[in-house]
Amino acid sequence: MGKKQLLPNSSIAGQFREMAKKEYNREGTLEIDDGAAVSFANDGGAYVAAWVWVYGDVCHFCGRVFRNDGAGSGKCEDCANR
Ligand SMILES: [Zn+2]
Repeated sequence: MGKKQLLPNSSIAGQFREMAKKEYNREGTLEIDDGAAVSFANDGGAYVAAWVWVYGDVCHFCGRVFRNDGAGSGKCEDCANR
């Protein structure tokens, strides 16, 4: 399956971006930049670059990235249980 990156400010790239935004954009969870890369795949669609949000924090004690549910301790579960 061949992919061809479209020029970011081309009309076709803009139209694919708008379709992607309508279908997938969810503020704060999945966002598509105005100039997002678009790769046209010759089989009925295109890939549009997007940002996905991931909740996480860096543990102040061991440096591991952990899921932060807002407890705000700055410690991962392992370090909190020590
Ligand atoms: Zn830790």
